[in-house]
Amino acid sequence: MTASEFLIVGGGLAAATAAETLREQGYDGAVRIVAAEADRPYIRPPLSKEYLNGSAERDSIFVHPADWYAEHDVELTISTTATALDTGAQTVTLSDGTAAHYDRLLLATGASPRRIAVDGHDAAGILYLRSVGDSETLRSALAEGGKRVVIVGSGWIGLEVAAAACGYGNDVTVIGREDEPLSAALGDELGRVFRRLHESNGVRFLLPAAIRSFTTSDGAVTGVVTESQTVPADLVIVGIGAVPATELADAAGIAVRNGVLTDEHLRTDASGVFAAGDVANAFHPVVQQRMRNEHWANAINGGKVAARAMLGQDAVFDDIPYFYTDQFDLGMEWAGYPPLAKDADVVYRGDVDAREFVAFWVAAGRVVAGMNVNVWDVNDDIQALIRSGKRVEANRLADPGIPIADL
Ligand SMILES: Cc1cc2nc3c(=O)[nH]c(=O)nc-3n(C[C@H](O)[C@H](O)[C@H](O)COP(=O)(O)OP(=O)(O)OC[C@H]3O[C@@H](n4cnc5c(N)ncnc54)[C@H](O)[C@@H]3O)c2cc1C
Repeated sequence: MTASEFLIVGGGLAAATAAETLREQGYDGAVRIVAAEADRPYIRPPLSKEYLNGSAERDSIFVHPADWYAEHDVELTISTTATALDTGAQTVTLSDGTAAHYDRLLLATGASPRRIAVDGHDAAGILYLRSVGDSETLRSALAEGGKRVVIVGSGWIGLEVAAAACGYGNDVTVIGREDEPLSAALGDELGRVFRRLHESNGVRFLLPAAIRSFTTSDGAVTGVVTESQTVPADLVIVGIGAVPATELADAAGIAVRNGVLTDEHLRTDASGVFAAGDVANAFHPVVQQRMRNEHWANAINGGKVAARAMLGQDAVFDDIPYFYTDQFDLGMEWAGYPPLAKDADVVYRGDVDAREFVAFWVAAGRVVAGMNVNVWDVNDDIQALIRSGKRVEANRLADPGIPIADL
């Protein structure tokens, strides 16, 4: 391909990985990243874990060292938002009043926290967590300890923040809509494993419950009102999911439905425009349907595939979705196809009560997802098993004497 202008909108992990891949693939034309945030691209998982609990330094969260961009001739324009996209003229209007032309455009605009819209929602002391600034605000609020912290939402962010808040010596209550935490992702039975972990560390759960309003005094939150009670609160963290940042694509007439729609090459329906990361709802050739995954690995792998597809290579985004979490002394990795795992049977290997086990989701005799909890160096084998599509007897899956690689 002759040198042309490659523009990447969004300054997160997918954007940075795409820029890196373009250079690795030998592309020597113009690469520019336009990023709304004031920081260069960084990774978000530590924001609810080691950076929030104070065990990681700020420097450790960045995707690349500060001088990487200049060294690789990647123009990084921070604190600047792309405000309009004209797919006919192939231009993007920026918040600094300029316009940028592109030959290829990658939309890597990520997602933003879903807001809660009940009475009192804008009171001081009600926080969200997405950016490094959010994490720093939250850390200063939690670090004193001794606060009544209420977490609204019993998903990954809610539980990770609960663990960090507990670690600082706060009194923590998690309120969620489901019967068990994480049940949308893992089902009730495995959700209970996480619930027991948190309860044994002093976290209280109020499940299922819906938030009716917040009580406030002098503009600051004082409590969370559910249908059955008011839970006193000095600090509230809302973690009720994220909404893909599709405004730019939507206004440009690009097809959007729960994210920017793409094919398996991460191409949108507009010529020369691609999407990757949290914002992309991408067709997956194995499950034969679109999936939008809000995972770190999805941003990395999607960034790589999008870059190669932008260069005209036959790159296909067919990775198995992968996710990890760390909470208290529990570390886990999950890999699999969420749509196929939804109604699958779960087979366990190891000791669930001791929180040292592997769970396999099995549909029609085949493993469609697997999760290793405090068991390490097996996730690649789990992914190989999923990818193989081979039929495995449940008793063999459950037998820790048979290495997963030999199943
Ligand atoms: C607190 C937290 C903890 C997480 N923990 C885990 C974990 O343990 N494991 C895991 O797998 N995943 C985790 N995730 C999810 C993971 O971080 C995301 O999937 C990943 O950040 C997505 O990367 P992205 O580049 O697609 O989007 P983002 O990281 O959201 O980056 C998009 C960027 O684009 C910018 N932007 C948006 N619109 C515009 C515009 N119009 N113009 C310019 N810039 C724009 C945004 O400001 C943002 O900086 C976590 C997420 C959060 C928030």
